[in-house]
Parts: sequence; C-alpha cells; structure tokens
Amino acid sequence: MKHVTPPAGSAPPKTAVVVGSGFGGLALAIRLQAAGVATVLLEKRDKPGGRAYVYEDGGFVFDAGPTVITDPSSLEELFEVAGRRLADYVTLLPVSPFYRLCWEDGYQFDYANDQAELDRQIGAKNPKDVEGYRRFLAYSRAVFEEGYLKLGTVPFLQFRDMVRAGPQLARLQAWRSVYAKVSEFIEDDQLRQAFSFHSLLVGGNPFATSSIYALIHALEREWGVWFPKGGTGALIAGMAKLFADIGGRVELGAEVARITVDGRRATGVVTHDGRVFEADLVASNADVVHTYDALLRGTTRGASEAARLKRKRFSMSLFVLYFGLKRHQPQLQHHTVLFGARYRALIDEIFRAKTLSGDFSLYLHSPCATDPSLAPPGMGSYYVLSPVPHLGNAPIDWSVEGPRYAERIFDYLEARYMPGLRADLVTHRIFTPNDFRSELNAHHGSAFSLDPVLTQSAWFRAHNRDDWIPNLYLVGAGTHPGAGVPGVVGSAKATAGLILGHERA
Ligand SMILES: Cc1cc2nc3c(=O)[nH]c(=O)nc-3n(C[C@H](O)[C@H](O)[C@H](O)COP(=O)(O)OP(=O)(O)OC[C@H]3O[C@@H](n4cnc5c(N)ncnc54)[C@H](O)[C@@H]3O)c2cc1C
Repeated sequence: MKHVTPPAGSAPPKTAVVVGSGFGGLALAIRLQAAGVATVLLEKRDKPGGRAYVYEDGGFVFDAGPTVITDPSSLEELFEVAGRRLADYVTLLPVSPFYRLCWEDGYQFDYANDQAELDRQIGAKNPKDVEGYRRFLAYSRAVFEEGYLKLGTVPFLQFRDMVRAGPQLARLQAWRSVYAKVSEFIEDDQLRQAFSFHSLLVGGNPFATSSIYALIHALEREWGVWFPKGGTGALIAGMAKLFADIGGRVELGAEVARITVDGRRATGVVTHDGRVFEADLVASNADVVHTYDALLRGTTRGASEAARLKRKRFSMSLFVLYFGLKRHQPQLQHHTVLFGARYRALIDEIFRAKTLSGDFSLYLHSPCATDPSLAPPGMGSYYVLSPVPHLGNAPIDWSVEGPRYAERIFDYLEARYMPGLRADLVTHRIFTPNDFRSELNAHHGSAFSLDPVLTQSAWFRAHNRDDWIPNLYLVGAGTHPGAGVPGVVGSAKATAGLILGHERA
C-alpha cells in the first residue's frame, strides 16, 4: 500500500488497514471497501471471526462463540451498503422458543415471541406478573427506541455528546440496574431472573449494569432470534466472501506487532513476521488494552491510554466446553439457560471473587435442534458455557482447573438434563480464560472487554476514534456501544461514519 499522509480532516482516505476480523472488524472493512477505500484486513488466527471462530472435529461443527443472532436488519443493512443482499450469502433460520429457561427445582419457562403464550406461562407462575410484564415490555421498548435506535450507532467522542443524551438517560432511569428495574415490574423471583439475565449475554452483571440493557428484551421481541443455516460461522464466511467480492483483501495468520506512528499520524502496521502495511488510516478491532499497550508500545499515547484503560473494570470471562455426542438429544431446545440454585450471590462471585464458585449457571447450545447438518447424521453438536471470573480477579491455573471443571459440568448435565451423555461422548474440547488471553489477546482474558456499567458506557468507553491520533480508529466490543453482535456491528457503523465523514467529528 502507498503511504499517504494528508493533514487531519483533509482528503478522504484511499487506503485502510483493519486489525482483527471479529464481527466488528469485518463489518467496518466491508463499509470502508464499499465506500471505495482499498482495505486490508489482518487477522492473527487461521480463520476470520474472532470470538465467532469455528472448530470442526470429526464432522462435528462447533461455533465457538455467538449463537443468538438478533437484529438481522443491521446485517441486512451491511450487505445493502455493499450493493448486495444478505439472503444471497446466508440464510437466517428463526429460533423458537427463543430460549428455554430451566431451574433446579424443575420449573421451566419457554421464552417465545408469542404474547398469549407468555401471558399463559407468566399467569400460571404468578397472576399479578402478567400486567407487570406488559409494563416491563413497554419500558424495554422505550429504552430500545432511545438507547438502540437513536444512540446505538452514534459515536460518543466528546463529553457534550453524553450531556446531550443525559435527559433521555435520566428519564429512563439509566442509573438503576437491569435487575432493579425488572423487579419494579415483576414480583416472582424466577420470573425476575427470566427477564434480567439477558445482560449477561453481553457481559453485563444484571445487578450492576445500566437498565438501558433491558432493551435487549424489546430487541428480541421486535426482530426475533435467528440462527444462520450452517452456524454462525456461515454468517462470518458470508461476510468474508462479501468483503472479497467487493475487492477487499484478507490476510490470515497476520498478527500485527505494532501500529506505526509518525507524530500524531498512524502510518500503517508491522506484523510479527515483518510484513509492513502502510495506509491512510488504521482501525483496530483487537482488544482495546492490547491496542494501546502492545500495538502502540513505545509511544506516549499508547502508554497513557493503556494505563487509563487498565484502571477500568473488565467484564467476566467464560469457560466453554464443546462436545459431540453420537446421539442427538431431541428433548433440548436450541438455546437453554440452566439456572443454578443461587442467582445474585453466584453472579457477585463471577464478577468479584478471587476463586471459582462451587456451583454454576450455564448456557447450553444445541444447534442441531435447528440445523442437523452441524453434526454427522443422527449425532449432536453442543456447547455449554459457564461465566467465570476473569484472570485479573481470579488468577486460576486453567491448565489444571479446566479439565476438572469440564468433568464437573459433564456430571451436572448428565444428572439433570442430558441422560447418557458420557456413554455417547465422541469428542470434546475446552476454551478457558487463558485462551481468551492468549488466542484473542483479551486483557485479563475477559470475554466481553470493558464491563458495560453506566460509568463505562458511551463517552466513557474507548472512543471509536482515538483522541490524539486522528487517523487511528477503534471498533468492537470495547468501544461504543459495546459487546454482542448487534453492538459491534453498530460500532462499525459509528466508526465508518467518522471515517467517511457521515458523522460530526
Ligand atoms: C462464548 C461466547 C458466546 C457469545 N454469545 C453471543 C451471542 O449469542 N450473541 C451475541 O450477540 N453475542 C455473543 N457473544 C459476544 C460477541 O461474540 C462478541 O461481543 C463479538 O463477537 C466481539 O466482536 P469484536 O468485533 O469485538 O471482535 P472479536 O471477536 O473480539 O475479534 C477480534 C479479532 O482480533 C484479532 N486480533 C487480536 N489481536 C490481533 C493482532 N495483534 N493482530 C491481528 N489480529 C488480532 C483476534 O484474533 C480476533 O479475531 C458471545 C461471546 C462469547 C465469547
């Protein structure tokens, strides 16, 4: 790439380097390439996708991360920006019920997009909560309008942007937690859990995260829950193909060692194997601490911003266990949340404790319920994830604890939800907080980057454009609006808007 250094705010960029091919990096690369900026996407691993990587073991296909695909309109828009149709690249299949929620006392709640069915189940549990749920849904819809539709793709670069959003945030009582807000409407303890656990899906503690995150409920009710045919990996493959089809270039196995800077301008990047990529702008989809601490090492800006970010609170990590069984278990829904005996106390420990708790709450993924092609005929692919403390809080030796923890989870699943699991086990693999740190360069091995509390949201998050180096941009979970597929696809829109001049600087 030719190295051009226009003064800030002058000629539009002609070339770009994006570091990292998570959903956010891919979405930004597509937007830039579609706007005529020749874009190179550099990814350290052998496949694109980041947290949405894919493992394939003996015919079993395991999506490594995101499985609950919401807001398909944000993906459709991305393909339209590039003059294509999402449906020509990937088929999204509806998932119903959205989730089955199970408790150890045998209570089950099927969370479906069907008001009459929800009313029936809520009424059977606690008649007073039928009306309470309607009021909660109205609240959730109001937050969705303000927090997602209006502010979700707006870059918060200056404090005055935050001040401007202040009245709406105050009206919606954004300082209260998701759980506090749900409890204002819903009485029953298990139903409170059913309508507050969602923030955990994007790394937020329901007892500390802003009630703005209650919008996830309305977002799901509005647009549904979807699963790409062929798995989330098929969606990533579709995005990578789209990028290539419009002329973008992806380099896999290209771990960036350094962003090169000349004064206050980024000039390109250098990979660990010595390749140099020069460009008019650099955008990092890598972890925000890694970006400043490692990629900008040796610069004053890198040192000061890394130190500032390290003082922030980071979200939890995850222990993920992928496994293939020789018989599919048809009693399982596609998405199941398995609540343990403790809710608040367990979540407190996940976010604060220095050791691993003795119990757990789990999310169980059974994709063959929607798409049997993800396992050999008649067999089943699964993954189960357990939220665990990040390495900064709990420096657990996962090389020892990981295999043990997997056995504990298998025992629990076999005893309560998946009879015959061990006899049918064909293959399994684990992904621990250590892997989040080493494979994905995630600070403290956090699965979702910065903890999405109000004081670390919007302007308080890492900015979509660096404050000091005006042609250095950030995209992904550590930036506004935050983690989750819709979040990082939204962050790509915010960042692209800044680069291409659609948004105010
Ligand atoms: C197990 C799990 C389940 C989840 N489930 C859901 C779900 O169901 N629904 C949902 O919406 N969200 C879910 N999430 C959250 C969601 O997956 C993430 O928030 C989102 O995918 C993060 O995207 P990102 O753009 O921040 O990039 P990431 O996925 O973090 O990708 C960053 C990329 O940068 C690369 N990289 C890092 N350093 C370098 C370097 N120096 N040089 C080159 N490349 C580098 C990494 O290898 C990686 O590919 C889940 C997350 C996890 C972990």
